[in-house]
This record gives sequence, structure tokens and C-alpha cells, in this order.
Amino acid sequence: MTTRARWTWLGDHLAVDFANTTIGLDGRREELIGTVGEFREWIAAEPAWLPALDGDAIDLELVLEQRDATSRLLRCAALQQPLPPGDVELVNARVRTAGVTRLLTSAPGRSRLAAGSGFASLLGVLAAATVDLLAREDLAAIAVCEAPGCGQVFHRSRRNQRWCSPGCGNRARVDRHRHRNPVAGGGLPR
Ligand SMILES: [Zn+2]
Repeated sequence: MTTRARWTWLGDHLAVDFANTTIGLDGRREELIGTVGEFREWIAAEPAWLPALDGDAIDLELVLEQRDATSRLLRCAALQQPLPPGDVELVNARVRTAGVTRLLTSAPGRSRLAAGSGFASLLGVLAAATVDLLAREDLAAIAVCEAPGCGQVFHRSRRNQRWCSPGCGNRARVDRHRHRNPVAGGGLPR
């Protein structure tokens, strides 16, 4: 029944997955968690640990407000620009409200986020993941894919990587060819 595009999994950090709940570039972004039901599907599909809702209602407005703040923060980081103070404050406030902590595990070098359950804890863990990501020293590896219709945040695996996936690289090359040869109308190159 649904014809909506699904979120694209990049197998990435929780904060990147959260920011990637829209698809497309600036003026033409499609919302992938536009209803409470879609957000619940996203929670169920997200592989990272998230607090259980324990019957709490979801306030979608708060979710989208935080997702948009996260998205702006990651995009500023990708462009190596200063982070917007209002978005920094929102994310920090959500971490504080939920009292999210980071705990050691028995695997050396590994830790995990910990929080209670309920809606505020869910937002708190998503916010804490954003803090974790933006506090990392390899921040320059974060990029935004500018292939037509993509706009996803991703981690570069090579220094000069421009596209999030080979599919996006191909689409970008086809698009560039079409713009250079408008008469061709998308036909085969001669
Ligand atoms: Zn892409």
C-alpha cells in the first residue's frame, strides 16, 4: 500500500541514521518519519540500542525538532562550520533531561549509552549519540552526498570520497552527462 521511499540504511552511527530520516537535497527533501507509525517502524528497524517506550506516547513534533537540529549539526560538521548554538543547546538539554550516561562494558575500548525507559529517554539517547559523534576527533570523515535525490550524511572511507554509495556515483555521472549534452535527452552518449 505504501509507495513512500524507505530510509536508506548506511549501517552507520546512530546519530547519522537519525539524521538520514529524510532523503533528498535542500529544497527537495522527502520526510521518511512523517507519522508516528513511520517513526515506530524506524525504531524497530534501527539496529542500535534504544530505550523502550514502555507505553509512552510519541510526540512527533519533538522528534522532528530534534532530528532537524541533528541534521543541521551534522551538515555543519561536514562543512567544518561552527555549530549553531540553538541546536547545540537543544541536544544538550535533551541529554540532561533524560540523564543519559556512558558506561564501560567488559570489552576493552567499548562503552555503551545507558538511560531509563520512556519517550524522554529515547530522545535523550538519540541526543547523546549526536554528542558522541560530534565530539570525535575523526570528524572530517563526515560528509553529505550531493548526488541527485540523495543528500544523505555518510562516513567517508577514503579521503576524497564524494558519494555515499556506488549507485549515487553512477547517478551523479549520468546527471552530469545529461546537463552537458541537453540535446541528448538522456539517450546513449555517441
Ligand atoms: Zn548518496
